[in-house]
Amino acid sequence: MRILITGGAGFLGSHLADRLLSDGHHVLVMDNLLTGSFENIAQHQANTRFEYIHHNVSNYIHVSGDLDWVIHFASPASPVDYLQLPIATMKVNSLGTHNSLGLAKAKSARYMLASTSEVYGDPEVSPQPESYWGHVNPIGPRGVYDEAKRFAEALTMAYHHKHGLDTRIARIFNCYGPRLRTNDGRVVSNFICQALRNEPLTVYGDGRQTRSFQYISDLIEGFVRLMNVDYHEPVNLGNPEEFTVIELSELVKELTGSRSKVEFLPLPVDDPKRRLPDITLARKLLDWSPKVDLRSGLANTIAWYKSRSEVLSRLS
Ligand code: UDP
Repeated sequence: MRILITGGAGFLGSHLADRLLSDGHHVLVMDNLLTGSFENIAQHQANTRFEYIHHNVSNYIHVSGDLDWVIHFASPASPVDYLQLPIATMKVNSLGTHNSLGLAKAKSARYMLASTSEVYGDPEVSPQPESYWGHVNPIGPRGVYDEAKRFAEALTMAYHHKHGLDTRIARIFNCYGPRLRTNDGRVVSNFICQALRNEPLTVYGDGRQTRSFQYISDLIEGFVRLMNVDYHEPVNLGNPEEFTVIELSELVKELTGSRSKVEFLPLPVDDPKRRLPDITLARKLLDWSPKVDLRSGLANTIAWYKSRSEVLSRLS
């Protein structure tokens, strides 16, 4: 198949590109490298089944030739990024979703949207099933991401109902692994880099808020399975093991053998208190559940960060 991945030079997009290329497909990566990095896909440059197109998908998208799939993964996804890039975040998830849906329609291609657990906001229900409508502050700092992703889901469903487009919506919960940018600002990358440098681990709030962390290889398997079923409503993809931020900091310290202390900093506005996926649907529909536990996933991720010069050069 010939598959376009918007945001294909980012963390998730580049891992999915790896998988689809190794499955024998043609992959076109479209990215403007706002938060992605060419380094994530440079290994495929010589592959004749790979193509890189530098483009901002918030503008009209032109692709020549046939496409079997349009996979819309372009978007800043770290809270630090979308707080710094509020308008670009809203544009890529609204205009970019519209352009990529229009492209899929023009090419009679199937379509997959990267949505997010952030559509549940600061949930009042835990774990969160797909049927939960969420608890989102539209005008808070996270609203630029949450509401834009909610709009993207609505538009994707509208193209499905109105134009019969063959669509998928993945609601992605916290994911980590190699290629999460060192300065990405998310908790796993922050803690690992801080621990490797023996700097304080920055815990926001009292650290009792929870997250459920899935390793990248599990999520990629979930995407591929979702592409292979005929189901158009959102599907949660996440690891149903819940950890507090404090527990995560302790595990990272242990696995890195770090001397770092913990430093408590203010909790960001509207930071969700609990996040835990109900994956009953993914288990049934996709026969999918995460296989990599946090300890082994973190060990792999730590090994990758240790190989990064920007981390090592500051090792004390
Ligand atoms: N967090 C933290 N220290 C950090 C970065 C994040 O304590 O250096 C907390 C953050 O407040 C949130 C959780 O870790 O409660 C996960 O944050 P992240 O930015 O990874 O993504 P989120 O799940 O909030 O989208």
